[in-house]
Formats: sequence, C-alpha cells, structure tokens
Amino acid sequence: MEDISEVITRIIKKRKLGEDSKKIAKTAIKHPKVQAFLAQNKERLNKEIVQASLPTIFNYVEQIESPNSVMEGYTPRLFLNGRVIDITYVPTEAKLKSEARMRAKHRIELIDLPKKLQSVELAEVDRTPDRKEALKNIAMFLAEFKKNKHIKGLYLTGDFGVGKTYILAGVANAIARQGSRVVFLHVPSFIASLGSHFQDNSLNDEIDRIASAPVLIFDDIGAETLSEWSRDDVLGVILQKRMDNVLPTFFSSNITMDGLNEHFAETRNSVDEVKARRLMERVRFLSKEVFVGGKNRRN
Ligand code: ADP
Ligand code: MG
Repeated sequence: MEDISEVITRIIKKRKLGEDSKKIAKTAIKHPKVQAFLAQNKERLNKEIVQASLPTIFNYVEQIESPNSVMEGYTPRLFLNGRVIDITYVPTEAKLKSEARMRAKHRIELIDLPKKLQSVELAEVDRTPDRKEALKNIAMFLAEFKKNKHIKGLYLTGDFGVGKTYILAGVANAIARQGSRVVFLHVPSFIASLGSHFQDNSLNDEIDRIASAPVLIFDDIGAETLSEWSRDDVLGVILQKRMDNVLPTFFSSNITMDGLNEHFAETRNSVDEVKARRLMERVRFLSKEVFVGGKNRRN
C-alpha cells in the first residue's frame, strides 16, 4: 500500500475540500491510534476503503479527543467491516476492572459482618514485619488454591485490633476474584443469634449452607459464648462436614489454638475436655496457626 498520508492528500485535493477539512483530515490520519490501525491492517486496506471511510476516521478521532459522557466506560475502536472502516465500542480497562471487582464482591456472603469488608483488597493491607508471616502464608494458600480447592486454611491469632479481620477480608476478596464463593461469618454474633432460627426451622439449612461453602471464614472464634449445644451441634457439625470434604476454612481469633481448646472445654454449664479436644482436632486439621502482631489499629 502507498503512503497513507499521500493518499489522503490526493483525495482531499480531488474533492476540493476547504482548508479546514484538509487540516482536520491530516490531523485525524496522523493520530497515533489511526496510524496504528492502518499499519495493522495494511494488507487488507486500499485507497478506496480509506477514502470511503474518511468521515468515520474523523468521527473516531473526535470521539477519542473529546469523549461523550454517555459512552463512559466504553472506548471506540476502528475495525475493518467488509470494505469500509467502521467504529465499534469496547469496554475500557477501568470498566473491566470495576466489573471484576463487582463480581468478586457478590461472591462474598457476609454473615453478621459490616458490608465494607466486601471491598477490602489484599493489596491494600500494609506489609508490616509483624504481618509478614501471615501474608506469606496467604500468598502460598492463594497460589495453591488455584490448582486445588481442597486445602488447609489459616488460623490467624493475635491481639485485638491488629488487623486480623481486615486481612481476612482481603483474603476473601482474593479468593472471590479467583471465582469461588466465600462465606465470611462473625462467630460471636452468629452463635448469639442462633435462637432466632428455632421458629422457622431454617437452622439446619443454614448450617448445611455454611458447612458446604467452598471457602468459609470464621471471624473472631473464641469470643462467643457457647452452650454444649452450640458447640457440639452447630460449630462441631460445621467443622466436621468441612473436615470430611476438606473445604478450606479460615479463622481469626484473639486467642491461640491452645487457648481455644480451653475455651471450648468450658461451656455455660459444664467442663468437657474430651469434647473440646475433638473440636480442636477439627480446627487443627482445617487450618494452620499463624501469629499476627502489631499495634492496635482501632480508634
Ligand atoms: P482485629 O480483627 O485483629 O481485631 P481489625 O481487622 O478489626 O482487627 O482491625 C482493626 C481496625 O484497623 C479496623 O478498623 C480496620 O479497618 C483497621 N485496619 C486494620 N488493618 C488495616 C490496614 N492494613 N489498613 C487500614 N486499616 C486497617
Ligand atoms: Mg476481628
């Protein structure tokens, strides 16, 4: 193909277009995006096609230079439509990103946790030395989870306010972006609200749903007040099912696994070391204990 600028100049001369149009045509053709398109389609273009498409090319450059707000989220793109150059609209990078973010958000089901946790990005979590171990383990989990959906989760232990819930929100988001559903549940509120399920018999369904979630995050385990029933027939059942199916389960807790063992032993009405140990076996099977340090970030 001959030099495109020459062709344009000739076309313009032939049509006896005014000085302004000439200038506009030259500028439009010189636009880097138009040049890139012409170069890419060199083999398939000829001067008839370019001539017939000049108004479209002007139009295209105009849209790029002063985008219409109606088209927000979309960007025009030239394509060869048979024997004319035409404009198509494709979603912008920003739009694709925000859609991916929205889709991920909808895969996170929060139970008794604030909605803002759906939007925490793992990349936003400060990488302080106190969190290095946790973040390293999280990265390892995420890489492994891509290949295998039946792996061990993590048990983040550390003082109140160091950011465990926040970090797990980032984990939920990263998992959701991989396409998996996540149930993120605040254990103390969930246990406290169990009574409300008696009337509608929905508790077994709820337990099943939580137990079979592809990924479950138990936030603040150990801070709940347990009865024998809520320990054995609710927590125990959920953890058992997850263990049977090797479903990734995460925990955050202000107490260590050893501390949790003691907590499980003492329910409202009795002390039962054996049952507590059985429950802890499931927690240990499902997750790896990792310490998170740092200052209290609340207030
Ligand atoms: P924990 O669960 O360990 O008690 P949280 O996750 O609730 O702690 O964190 C305490 C507060 O600090 C929250 O308000 C949280 O939003 C904030 N926070 C924690 N980590 C970060 C972070 N990396 N960047 C910004 N805010 C954070
Ligand atoms: Mg917390």
